[in-house]
Amino acid sequence: MRPVSLHAQAAAHGFQPAALENLIHHLDGMAYRGRHGPERHMQFVSRGCLALCGYSAAQLTASSGGWMGVIHKDDRQAVAEALASSLRGNGRFALQYRIRTASGQLRHVRESGVASPDGDGMLLEGFVMDVTSQQRTIRALAQAEMRYRTIFEHAQEGIFQSSKTGRYLAANPALARLYGYATPEELILNLSDISCQLYVEAGRREEFLRLMETVGEVVNFESEVYRKDGQRIWISENAHVVSSEHGRFLYYEGTVQDISERKHYQQQLEMQANFDALTGLPNRALLYDRLKQSVARAARAQSRLAVVFIDLDNFKFINDNLGHDAGDQLLKTVAGRIAGSIRKLDTVARLGGDEFVLILNDLDSEEGLWTLLERIRLKTSQPVPLQEHRCNVSASMGVALYPRDGVDEQTLLRHADVAMYAAKAAGKDNLHFFTGKLDQQSDERFTLEREMRLALEQDDFSVAYQPKFDRHGRMVGVEALARWQHAQLGAIGPDRFIPVAEECGLIVPLTMAILRKASMAIASCNRMAGRSIRLAVNLSPRLFERDHLCRELAAALADSGLSPGLLELEITESLLLGDTEHIISQMQELQAWGAELAMDDFGTGYSSLAYLLRFPLGIIKIDRSLVAGIESNEQQRMVVSAVVTLGRNLGKTVVAEGVETAEQLQLLRDMECCQYQGFGLSVPLSEAALHGRLQQEEKGIGCGG
Ligand code: C2E
Ligand code: CA
Ligand code: CA
Repeated sequence: MRPVSLHAQAAAHGFQPAALENLIHHLDGMAYRGRHGPERHMQFVSRGCLALCGYSAAQLTASSGGWMGVIHKDDRQAVAEALASSLRGNGRFALQYRIRTASGQLRHVRESGVASPDGDGMLLEGFVMDVTSQQRTIRALAQAEMRYRTIFEHAQEGIFQSSKTGRYLAANPALARLYGYATPEELILNLSDISCQLYVEAGRREEFLRLMETVGEVVNFESEVYRKDGQRIWISENAHVVSSEHGRFLYYEGTVQDISERKHYQQQLEMQANFDALTGLPNRALLYDRLKQSVARAARAQSRLAVVFIDLDNFKFINDNLGHDAGDQLLKTVAGRIAGSIRKLDTVARLGGDEFVLILNDLDSEEGLWTLLERIRLKTSQPVPLQEHRCNVSASMGVALYPRDGVDEQTLLRHADVAMYAAKAAGKDNLHFFTGKLDQQSDERFTLEREMRLALEQDDFSVAYQPKFDRHGRMVGVEALARWQHAQLGAIGPDRFIPVAEECGLIVPLTMAILRKASMAIASCNRMAGRSIRLAVNLSPRLFERDHLCRELAAALADSGLSPGLLELEITESLLLGDTEHIISQMQELQAWGAELAMDDFGTGYSSLAYLLRFPLGIIKIDRSLVAGIESNEQQRMVVSAVVTLGRNLGKTVVAEGVETAEQLQLLRDMECCQYQGFGLSVPLSEAALHGRLQQEEKGIGCGG
């Protein structure tokens, strides 16, 4: 069917042909009519052709040329083929190609038209317009799209678009990798329910949706998620809602980062900050935190809670003797036992060293608490297998109750600590509840410490000298005993101040002060009396923790000029339980210097005879508790006699302490004990009294004899 001509159409709509022609000629582009053929000869072109291709209508319709000549040579073939194929169809065609303008420029054009039979040929009518600038835009868009696609494809972060119903609409390779899928397609196909399949924590997707609903975005949204293989990782999402121009929801779009490493690190830091590395128990910081919460809760609920201080009794011994690995193992075992004996709502923390603290919440009765603590104590005191040994541990426990013994954390902890000290003092492996009296004692400990510092500064300590006599009643030496006459508090005995001095480290300056004073006094007595009285000084085990003990003692002795050969150093058995190698070498050093070592209070502790062989001890002092019974107790007499015989056979000087009666003295003499000390012979004397006593002896008014 031949299309109705433009003129006819125009006429039908009341257009004047002239006006129509005007309109056509003013169109931006080229309207044409031409014959189909290799050259595409034009019969008519509108004047827009000049702007389009730089050729005038006359040039284009001249018989010498054709439109094909204007088309870029590389595109001619394609144009010809496209035209041919549309001619086989309905005759309509739409083409896009390039032309070369008269001035040689390249332009993109779009041609649309229709072919109709005309005699023995084909007539083409249509319109060609310049689309160069559109083409440029499209290309730019494509390039931009390409760039973004590259970013999307190669990003290290996961990028996604997802629907409200919890499906992924798009995902990049990084997201697929992150979630453990081979390709984005596999991810989209398999991960069809984000809410259930992805998030570990229930309700996480709902939270995501809630934020999207209320804020329109999520920022650093951290969640734990499952990978395809079930492994868990931590991610951080940043996402927002994408809407259409009209505000209709389209999808969520966002990025995903794997933060597992940071999370792991963070968790580790939190662990370090709040948990003890060795036992995994809460540490001091977390204990305070929990206790604070517990106290607040108990205050609200008007319930009771207990704070329990636990200190292992023989940890130091095991640690020193079996080594730190064994010590660590012991602590871990005990920590596990305690943790296993308490309820979920309670806390056990390690304060450091061998100290643990329990917080026991919601107590119903004191009996219940007692039972629970007894259970813990029994459980902890089960022998612990360490290396080839089975070690016995025991624990001293102190209890403070909220609200009775304190209503704040500090007071409760302090009072539990005070009660624990009392438990230890009462013979270890003990349980002690806090009482006001204990607090007073702990205050006293504090006061004593303060006063002792002052007394040391002001040189307020003095020395009493208790003589020791040989079998003939002749004074052979004295034991220096510390004395403290306090201006307000009166006389304070060494049994009270020595333990405090040991605890707070004052024992070192105190011992040195005693040695300095005593050595001056004895040197002077010896000079005046022309004698060689020996001086015995008590050394607390704490002194052996010093690296240069021998040098320090020598310095204290130096001013007096007393020979170290006249010095006896009394040590107690507890020292020998410590780091044996170290102690032996210190003892040997002291011995080499000239001093003699004495085992004090023999017969009170383990009194292992093995000590006498293993350690370089020259003197054994039989404790007064053994001596006290020898008149009445046959067995005790035999023990003392055996010790004397054994000691002498080993070449030691055996001294009996606490000799109070003539009968005791006689019995000990019969046993051939070497030396005697006790109230029955002489009480501890002042320097002046000692001097007097020596002078009397010179005049032949000795004791016993
Ligand atoms: P210790 O080393 O066993 O000293 C002997 C203690 O027994 C002295 O008590 C002494 O007065 C007392 N005593 C002596 N003869 C008798 C007796 O016949 N019967 C009775 N019942 N007691 C007697 P003191 O002076 O009260 O000293 C007590 C403890 O204090 C000493 O026991 C010693 O362990 C410690 N001590 C005293 N001075 C010092 C010191 O300078 N340094 C150290 N580390 N400890 C000291
Ligand atoms: Ca002593
Ligand atoms: Ca003693």
